[in-house]
Amino acid sequence: MSLDIQSIRKDFPILEQQVYGKPYIYFDSAATALRPLQVLNAVTKIYKEFNGNPHRGSHYMSNQTTLAYEAVRDKVQKFINAPSREEVIFTKGATEGVNLVAYSFGDAFISEGDEIIITEMEHHANIVPWQLLAQRKKAKVKVLPITDRGELIVSELDNLITPKTKLVAVNMVSNVLGTVNPIQDIIEKAHSKNVKVLIDAAQGIQHVKTDVQKLDCDFLVFSGHKIYGPTGVGCLYGKKDLLDAMPPFLSGGEMIEKVSFDGTTFNSLPYKFEAGTPNFTEVIGMGAALDYVNNIGLENIAAYEHELLEYATLKLKQIDGMRIFGDADNKASVISFLVGSAHHYDMGMFLDKMGFAVRTGHHCAEPLMDRYGVHGTVRVSLAIYNTKEEIDKLAAAIEKVAGMLQ
Ligand code: PMP
Repeated sequence: MSLDIQSIRKDFPILEQQVYGKPYIYFDSAATALRPLQVLNAVTKIYKEFNGNPHRGSHYMSNQTTLAYEAVRDKVQKFINAPSREEVIFTKGATEGVNLVAYSFGDAFISEGDEIIITEMEHHANIVPWQLLAQRKKAKVKVLPITDRGELIVSELDNLITPKTKLVAVNMVSNVLGTVNPIQDIIEKAHSKNVKVLIDAAQGIQHVKTDVQKLDCDFLVFSGHKIYGPTGVGCLYGKKDLLDAMPPFLSGGEMIEKVSFDGTTFNSLPYKFEAGTPNFTEVIGMGAALDYVNNIGLENIAAYEHELLEYATLKLKQIDGMRIFGDADNKASVISFLVGSAHHYDMGMFLDKMGFAVRTGHHCAEPLMDRYGVHGTVRVSLAIYNTKEEIDKLAAAIEKVAGMLQ
């Protein structure tokens, strides 16, 4: 299906803005995607028309909010094909999801000497919570290495997994290299040795059809703002038997069944893990984002992004001194690069002044930067609203800046 990108672009009014008197060209969707009008309208509607704290009042507005909030749980369940709605926990993002599992699963299932395996290409959000868990429990974090091309050496898992290994935590797509990881293989390998798996889908959910039943992952986390939704909201999917066996993470209102000064009992799933007033406005906005993606079709979005990725890779490779990090066979629409001796930060600064939003730095993946022996890169990430014309302009701008910085 051929998409009408110009019409899609009209859904994103921010693209009509200028920065420094230049058209705004947004290549930083991996950091946070733009939001379409459909999402902005859904959020505004809550504040304007039916504000009320979900689950907490018997009045009309509170009931309306509860219905809309819970309807998004059904949408997420369907979007990721979770077996039941109770297995969908709203969080404030992927980071909170990983922390929830690290604290709660960690509390219940990790003991001294146990091992957790992560990979060399993880975001700090999928590294630091495991390091802290390891410190608390005197456990150990082990690392699955990658090849120079930026692909996981999955066979190494056979050596890394021991009877002490309890969990593998791996991203679905690298935020730096764009590599789409073979998570199905990893899950099968881990499960064959009775090891649980957490998938960090922060960079995957918006590009790759996600089916948690087919994957059979034990946990999966993502953030709403990277899939055209609002900030401050995301999801944790977890298998029911595991979530049931895990103690609460945050505590307070709504996550309880009965509170007395002699003791407290806890609510059932999913509420056991949703303490306090949730970000209900943003959850409802995320529901609108999933509708938006479903209407266009995730497979259509992915196909268009792939076309852009191939086009941009070809264009950028023509630039003298171009070094692209990540050349996996299966890549999502993220390109990290350096040109000659130009510093990534200088490149980003000049591109910014020319109207391009790109990401520079270590991308919250310092161990990966160490792996490649660099301090940072420039990252271009492509989404549904980007065009080949924008890529042409970017390539010309990079060439010009690289000439100035040599
Ligand atoms: N994992 C990956 C791979 C990411 O790219 C990010 C965000 N850059 C995160 C986790 C954390 O997401 P958030 O900051 O939305 O919690």
